[in-house]
Formats: sequence, structure tokens, C-alpha cells
Amino acid sequence: MNNVDKYTPTILAIDDMPVNLDILVEHYQHDQVNLTVALCPLDGLKLAETLKPDLILLDIMMPVMDGYEVCSRLKSNPKTRHIPVIFVTAMSESSDEQKGLALGAVDYISKPFVMPILKARVRNHLELKRKTDLLAEMAFIDGLTGVANRRHFDQLFAREYKRHCRSGQPLSVIMIDVDYFKHYNDHYGHVMGDACLRIIANTLQKSLKRPADLLARYGGEEFVVLLPETDPKSALKIAQMLCRSIDDLQLPHQKSTCAANVTISLGCASSMHEHNDQCEDILSDADSNLYMAKLQGRNRVIGEPAQPMDMVKYAESSIRMFG
Ligand code: GH3
Ligand code: MG
Ligand code: MG
Repeated sequence: MNNVDKYTPTILAIDDMPVNLDILVEHYQHDQVNLTVALCPLDGLKLAETLKPDLILLDIMMPVMDGYEVCSRLKSNPKTRHIPVIFVTAMSESSDEQKGLALGAVDYISKPFVMPILKARVRNHLELKRKTDLLAEMAFIDGLTGVANRRHFDQLFAREYKRHCRSGQPLSVIMIDVDYFKHYNDHYGHVMGDACLRIIANTLQKSLKRPADLLARYGGEEFVVLLPETDPKSALKIAQMLCRSIDDLQLPHQKSTCAANVTISLGCASSMHEHNDQCEDILSDADSNLYMAKLQGRNRVIGEPAQPMDMVKYAESSIRMFG
């Protein structure tokens, strides 16, 4: 997507007349376009869902199901509603066109059409689709680090929480905060601070192996990891591995009082189905454990359930900090 030269859009053409599809195939054979065709509207609907084309060219008069019905089904399915549809049809009354556009089609081309004009319109709509996709992508990515942003996390967290309630599988989160980062900025400057955040995000991202795990920048120098189907013990192990991965970088931090290098503190929390936790609870529990990790000296992980020993250390550090 970022490499414009490599962008090859996919078009799905649905038409019950083989000759119409043949003409399209012939005229697109030398273009940088993946053209897939479907003679049956039901096959077309299935292909739209699996192929996720960038554009659909849709006939109206078809047996079994007409193009209007196909378009309504595409627009009412969350998996296909964002795909632009262009009607290409012999029905040329303005009322037909009005109906097609009202159903959500982006354009309406009457047959017989002039091929260069059809191709020009298709090109324009593909370009718009590419920009829309890019904007949607950018809305979910943190501009500084390139990992998911808070909005993305909030959406996915809500979805995963519902799934966890249905399936009974555990759900874990890890809250992460960079240690003494204000001192880092003050000493090395904001530009170095930004570069440091990028390296941290990159390292954390590379350390997570499962595709379902999501790392997001939660704000400032805080990150969060969402771990679906992960129990407290596994979450703790992952958090410890993440903590080590940053420590191992040995990025100098002269102003840190817990190490000579950049470190992070982490707090884990999990929701087990039988406990019926609220979704806000896991985040605040992870935050409390992160706070405890800070109080206990930073560059460490506190998971749950907090060990009695942690509470002793917590009390000691509280006295050291506030007493
Ligand atoms: P602690 O170990 O208790 O977490 O101390 P801290 O200094 O890391 O925490 P504090 O909340 O006092 O400071 C966070 C700092 O993170 C302050 C802010 O300037 C810096 N920061 C937040 N966002 C960015 C950013 O995008 N770029 C840079 N360079 N610094 C940032
Ligand atoms: Mg912070
Ligand atoms: Mg911090």
C-alpha cells in the first residue's frame, strides 16, 4: 500500500453474460489490475467477501438475483460494505440509475458503453478507494512509532472483550511505561527521545510472535499489549520477555537511577470468564500493577495475582518514596 508502484488493484466483475465479461478481460489484460469475474450473483457475493476487491462492476439484469439485490446485500454486510460498486447495465432509464445510486453504488454506466470512458471512471474510483484505505489505515496508526494507536486499541479491546465473554477464554493486557523518560528527554533532547520511543515500539512489536497480539501506543511514553486467549501465567512470561528485550538493547540512559540504560516497567492483568470482571477493571488492574512495578524499583513486571512478597516490597518502596 505504501509503495505506489507495486499497487495492483483488484476488480470483481459480476455479469451473467459471458460475452460481457470476455470484453472486460480482453481490455484489462495489459493493465496492472487483477480482474476476477463471476457469472452467478451468488458466486459474486461469496467472492466479494473472500477476495475483498477494490471495486465491483455489477450488472443489473441477472437471473436468480438482480444487481440491485446484490448491491443491497453487499452494502448491508460489514465485510463488503466499503467496496465501491459501479453498475454497468443496459437499463438506461434515469429512474434505474437513481435506484442504483440510492442503493449505495458510486457510479452507473449504461450499456453500450465506450470502453475508454469506462476504464477512466474505473481508474478514478480505484484512486479514490486507495486514498480512502490509506486514510483509514492512518487513523489507526500512531504517527511517531508506526504501531497501533489508542483508537485502534480501544476498538479491538472492546471486540476482544466481548469475544472473551462469549468464549470463556481468558484475556490479558500488559501496561508498559518507559522509566525516567522525562529525565531522558531533558538530558538527550526531544529528538533523541522520539527516536528512543520508535526503537522501543519496534523492539516490543518484534518480540510479540502471535498475530492476534496487539501492541499499541497508549499515550506519551506508555504502551499497551492486548493478549487474547492468554492466561495470567502466560501474560506474565510475555511481559518478562518484553522487559528483557528493552533492557537487552542497552540504550544508554545516564539519568536513570534504576539502570545505566533505558528500561520499562510493566503491569499485567487478566480477565477469567468465571470471575466476570468488567473490561475497565482489567485495564485499571494492569495500571495498578504497573504502578507497583514503578514503586518496587522499575525495570520489572508485576503480574497477577500480586504475590504477598510484592505487597511487602510495595510498602517498603512507598515508605522510601513518600516517607
Ligand atoms: P517514570 O519512571 O515514573 O515513568 O518517570 P517518567 O519520567 O518516565 O514519567 P513522567 O510521566 O514524569 O514523564 C513522561 C515523559 O515522557 C514526559 C514527556 O516529555 C515524555 N514524552 C511523552 N510523550 C513523548 C513523545 O512523544 N516524545 C518524547 N520525546 N517524549 C515524550
Ligand atoms: Mg508515563
Ligand atoms: Mg515513564
